[in-house]
Amino acid sequence: MDLQQLESILNDMQQPAYRFKQIKLAVYKELKDSFGAIENIPLPLRRDLDRLVPFSELTLTTEQQSTDGSVKALFAARDHVSIESVLIPYADGSRTVCVSTEAGCQVNCAFCATGHLGFTRVLTASEIVEQVLYFARALKPRGERVTNVVFMGEGEPFLNYDNVKSAILLLNDNDGFNMGQRRISVSTSGIVPGIERFAAEDWQVNLAISLHAPVNGLRSILMPINRTYPLEQLMPALDRYVARTNRKLMIEYLLLGGLNDSVHNADALADLIHNYKEVLRLSVINLIIYNPVKDSSGHPDRFKAPRIASLRAFEEVLNKREIAWTRRASFGSDISGACGQLAGEVTPTMEEPRDPASAGVSGGVGT
Ligand code: SAH
Ligand code: SF4
Repeated sequence: MDLQQLESILNDMQQPAYRFKQIKLAVYKELKDSFGAIENIPLPLRRDLDRLVPFSELTLTTEQQSTDGSVKALFAARDHVSIESVLIPYADGSRTVCVSTEAGCQVNCAFCATGHLGFTRVLTASEIVEQVLYFARALKPRGERVTNVVFMGEGEPFLNYDNVKSAILLLNDNDGFNMGQRRISVSTSGIVPGIERFAAEDWQVNLAISLHAPVNGLRSILMPINRTYPLEQLMPALDRYVARTNRKLMIEYLLLGGLNDSVHNADALADLIHNYKEVLRLSVINLIIYNPVKDSSGHPDRFKAPRIASLRAFEEVLNKREIAWTRRASFGSDISGACGQLAGEVTPTMEEPRDPASAGVSGGVGT
């Protein structure tokens, strides 16, 4: 629902000021799924609103359940643009929704299915929040809630800053979804002006940076955005972010077999981090194993996952260099719902739908 449209229509109808808040609470807190279900507003008003304000910006197209318990939802926006979101049920009981901020992505990282898809448009704040609402409604009958939201689906959040910010504020709003700021994380490919803006916000929202390479040459090959914001701009911006917010920074490092996973690369990564004392003080490297994706012509791309021995050796270097790290648990790869695989497609699967909460998945950080 477009809240601005709702507010202006309520004003035009000369409804009392409290109506707007009443409806907002019904939609975001009580998770009502139609105007008709909001019983504390008069029936004629419900009928008028039904006619005048689209209740939802998104319509579910398909939903796919992974054998690991994660669920991928494919939605159509009102202009038929399709977008995806993933629900990740962790073993500790937390329920994380990974939302898309754009349909496609302009950044075009070499290893990412969303990047291969090209860019269609940014999503509105309502379209972002409705991805969370969808899963919140689905979990409610089981007595479960969405506990965390990560902005790690399709798109680059900082190329849609204003809408991402409004979505965060709505998720956090007491009269809205009422989710704690510390439970929200945003991942960027390294848009420096966005990082500066994020650092200046008066909030406790978490930041993650997709680093993926410790030197400019390699990073520019993997992530063309590095040509615009190279490491000598990115790293000081991250250092200032940590200094200013005193919040832990998550550094995502995608391991690509034979490309950025050698002990030499690990040492270079440790060197880079040791050069920035605030980042060194308060960051954790989140190691991500490459999930296979197809290139724009539908063929498997040229990357591969690291060998387990290389992974161990990489982690060993980080240990020796006293760099904090975790390994990201991957979810949803059988339904193309894992990191980097979101590309608006339905993956054929023989799996019967199952209850995500019943899956014995291991814990992890982020998606
Ligand atoms: N656009 C933002 C957030 C979405 S991507 C960003 O790039 O940070 C979420 C994470 O998945 C990023 O760290 C991204 O680099 C990573 N990713 C992309 N393609 C991947 C792949 N094929 N396998 C594993 N992770 C991938
Ligand atoms: Fe865009 Fe992130 Fe994919 Fe890069 S990794 S193309 S920034 S969604």
